[in-house]
Amino acid sequence: FSPEQIDRLEPMQLLVIINPFSGRKNGQKLFQNIARPMFDLAGAVIVQEVITERQGHAKEFVETFDLTSITGIVLASGDGIVYEVINGLMARPDWETAIKTPIGLIPTGSGNALVSSLLYEADEEKAVIENAVFQIINGGIQTHDIASVSTGSSHSYMGVLIHWALTGSVDVESEKLRILGGELRTIVGGLISIIMKRGYQGQLSYLPIDEESSVAATERDTSSGEAARPTTSISVSDPIPDNWKTIEGNFVMFIGLMLSHMSDSIMGHSDIKIGSGEHRIVYAFDDVTRAQLLTGLVGSPNTAKYDTFHEIRTRAFRLNPISPGFITVDGELVDYGPIQVQVHPGMMRLYSR
Ligand code: ADP
Ligand code: MG
Repeated sequence: FSPEQIDRLEPMQLLVIINPFSGRKNGQKLFQNIARPMFDLAGAVIVQEVITERQGHAKEFVETFDLTSITGIVLASGDGIVYEVINGLMARPDWETAIKTPIGLIPTGSGNALVSSLLYEADEEKAVIENAVFQIINGGIQTHDIASVSTGSSHSYMGVLIHWALTGSVDVESEKLRILGGELRTIVGGLISIIMKRGYQGQLSYLPIDEESSVAATERDTSSGEAARPTTSISVSDPIPDNWKTIEGNFVMFIGLMLSHMSDSIMGHSDIKIGSGEHRIVYAFDDVTRAQLLTGLVGSPNTAKYDTFHEIRTRAFRLNPISPGFITVDGELVDYGPIQVQVHPGMMRLYSR
């Protein structure tokens, strides 16, 4: 037996974190009515259940929780709690082992891109709670990447996607439409933004993926005696290296994807796999038409069919926004300004079939 197979023979011991605010604000009910009976039947033990009380609560909780008492963490939420948990685990002195804790995802948010991508790859219907719970109970493990994100003032880790320009605004502005619930708020917000079709001036610099050998993650902070955490090889104030490419223009759309789906039903790109080790940037300048945006964002997944949609494969990039706007990382708003991103392949683990 491999260690993973032996793990599967032991009952699962789970820490469950539920965001009662996510999606239609019915996460708690969905967990109790659908997920909990399935975990009980499967003999999985719920060691502790945490209902998040505010933003940042999930991060703080996993920062100090005794991980030796559990075999995995289950999140009933959207992508925002995934982001918090990645950052909480990476902030621990024992981050190297903590980030390997298997994480199971139950889609109760309005943005469930990570679990939707997992279910898509497993050929399961997306955003169906039962299917998501089956993936966890099954106990298979799949590795996924995390990426460091540095702005001038902060450093964090992400595992899902970055939005700027049109979809950045939708992510932030659609908070006001939360009453619509679920994914609808994103779609309505998207339609409004497509009608406006605003351009955002900015620059994107990136290391093309075929030159990746030269992008070793530097390890800066060794002063604390802890193992050095991976970070971006350059900071936002460093000059762009010679072998990076820079494009500049009036961006209407900018999405950096670490997986196939942007949300439950909207696929950014079918061939981006979980744990592929890359960021796929999909962008359009102001020569894109409203009809193309509409089809590309809320209709057909195949953005590649328009020559106004562009794609970049990279592990390290800097986005330098010039026009005012919003940047969200895994659906969470970050400080607006230059942002440096770098992928660290295979660092986290997800329950999947
Ligand atoms: P959604 O997919 O609906 O956006 P997320 O799980 O991404 O759901 O969470 C959205 C936000 O809710 C996150 O910023 C998270 O930190 C925050 N949050 C967590 N618990 C609460 C709470 N009790 N009240 C308000 N916001 C919360
Ligand atoms: Mg969210």
